[in-house]
Amino acid sequence: MPEGPTVRRFCSLVSPFVGQQVVKVGGRTKQIVLPDLMEKWIQDCQVHGKNLYVAFGCGVTPKATSVNAQEFDGEKSHEEKIGIDCPPNTETTTSPNNLSSLENEEHPRCKWLRFHFGLYGSVKVNELTHAKRGDKRGDWKDPVPRLILHFAAGSFLVFYNCRILWCSSPYVEPTCDILSVEFDKEKALRALSAPRPVCITLMDQQHFSGVGNIIKNEILFLAQVHPLSLGSLLPPETLRALIDHAVSFTAKWLRIKMQGEPMHYIIYMKEYCPKGHKVVKETIGPPHGLQRLTWSCPTCQERAQPEGHTQEQI
Ligand SMILES: [Zn+2]
Repeated sequence: MPEGPTVRRFCSLVSPFVGQQVVKVGGRTKQIVLPDLMEKWIQDCQVHGKNLYVAFGCGVTPKATSVNAQEFDGEKSHEEKIGIDCPPNTETTTSPNNLSSLENEEHPRCKWLRFHFGLYGSVKVNELTHAKRGDKRGDWKDPVPRLILHFAAGSFLVFYNCRILWCSSPYVEPTCDILSVEFDKEKALRALSAPRPVCITLMDQQHFSGVGNIIKNEILFLAQVHPLSLGSLLPPETLRALIDHAVSFTAKWLRIKMQGEPMHYIIYMKEYCPKGHKVVKETIGPPHGLQRLTWSCPTCQERAQPEGHTQEQI
């Protein structure tokens, strides 16, 4: 799934639409009520961790907050047709004549949509994604947009493969956000020092918001740390180096993304490490959590052992 830098790039695509009004809504999502977005104004766009937040303002429809805020448990609408165009919701639309009386509102009400992207989640501007290959039956089917927002002058935003949820405000914990200037390295160090495999702590969004599987694999190799090493067995300077790599690698990835260039990985999905050693691929995750493919070089990334143990004893 898209990691922090990729979601930041999505945000940069949405940002030019801040201040624009939605004139038509489409998409197959059942996670929100599509007419609720009609005639709303995009007021802000933010990224926190791996989530994109878009504020839909009530510049025109401040009382139109009859959104479906319930939790959703996944996609249910595979048969649903795409591109449903929703007429303006007459119950929630305020006429332009009322606008002047609303402009003085000190805190205009708005709601945030949270987008959490799946494995092939993406955002497109003024274009649809087309199938790059046929499916198992040889049919070429274009991906189905979850949400399409149309604006004046024919421009539109398309959101693919994402969970969409209304929330009252973005979750903000910048001290845990790897891309935030407020990211707290000392707090991260305390989390990484726990007696659990570092590769699992790195994927814990409570501590390393924005870090995903690619970043995890790459920074563990850069810091020469074995994914299954327990944080409690690693010296603080090694953990600090790992955190420094996490910050610098993620920033570099963001920079490259924003320039529209491809990122070249060192260990992720590689057969050999840069020194020519055979890479080991294994599935690792918390006991009842998501198991993720993990690549490591057993030569370059020696596993930390408790004192008195040798490699063979573990
Ligand atoms: Zn190696």
